[in-house]
Amino acid sequence: MAAFTARHHRPPGLAIVLVGENPASEVYVRNKLKSGRAVGFLADLERLPAAASLADLLGLVERLNGSDQHDGILVQAPLPNGLGPDAATHVFDAIAPEKDVDGFAPGNVGRLVQGRPSLAPCTPLGVIEILTREGIAIAGRRACVIGRSEIVGKPMASLLLQRDATVTICHSKTPDLAAVCREADILVAAVGRAGLVTRSFVKPGATVVDVGMNTVTDPAIAATLFPEGHARLRLFRERGTVLVGDVHPEVAEVAGALTPVPGGVGPMTIAMLMMNTLRAAIARVAAGQTRAR
Ligand code: NAP
Repeated sequence: MAAFTARHHRPPGLAIVLVGENPASEVYVRNKLKSGRAVGFLADLERLPAAASLADLLGLVERLNGSDQHDGILVQAPLPNGLGPDAATHVFDAIAPEKDVDGFAPGNVGRLVQGRPSLAPCTPLGVIEILTREGIAIAGRRACVIGRSEIVGKPMASLLLQRDATVTICHSKTPDLAAVCREADILVAAVGRAGLVTRSFVKPGATVVDVGMNTVTDPAIAATLFPEGHARLRLFRERGTVLVGDVHPEVAEVAGALTPVPGGVGPMTIAMLMMNTLRAAIARVAAGQTRAR
């Protein structure tokens, strides 16, 4: 990063677009801006009010597509309902592919599926980075991904397949989910249901990656996750809320490795956003898409 800045007399630039005032999005965006600035990027927030129209948003994206100093554009999801049901699709279609650091634009999705170099979605990239850094072999192993969303499940499966895993994708209509998951050497849970993955889903010694982020406020659910006297149950009772993944804590007793929530895939997702922004900056300079300073 420092080498890029020294060489090109400007830092890599990231623009984050936030529409409306969703409290969770405010926190995510703040963390991304903070991380970007901490590593020396230009990290700008572009806000639009909740009442903004889709045309306003597309106009902003168009302006950022043409900005010389921004190499990456991220439009924070979810978008307000008032923008219409297809707003996210229109917005991702509008982001210049070379600035699409979320990897959601159709051109980048296609390139990912074809195994060509692309900007890939940050959360699945973060999962691959965790597995690689932990020395967990992927090639030849059986991988199971629970969840088939465009932002996590599907690209996760593509990245695992590219690395020669034998991949199964599960979803809400998969019969006998636990038995399918029990086949996996690497199990990735990306569902959004607290504690869904219990011990019976996990082959002893398997690697379990918990992508889920669920805010639990129901004392009955908290009590199914943590035994009486557990520090996190005490914390829940103090605060009335606890952040948990899709994987039940009892899985730690059977898994060979397990990522924590919070602190596992979440921070790695932000790190991959920075990596994608740097990659986009390098590629734009190489393609002559930015003016020399
Ligand atoms: P999503 O779009 O709601 O997709 C959820 C997927 O889970 C769907 O494919 C759904 O199946 C499947 N599913 C729902 N209930 C199920 C069940 N009982 N059994 C099996 N599959 C089931 O969610 P997402 O955006 O992919 O996010 C998933 C989770 O990851 C959420 O908790 C989200 O907060 C978290 N997340 C974390 C990060 C991070 O940085 N750590 C980033 C992104 C997302 P159908 O397709 O059949 O409906």
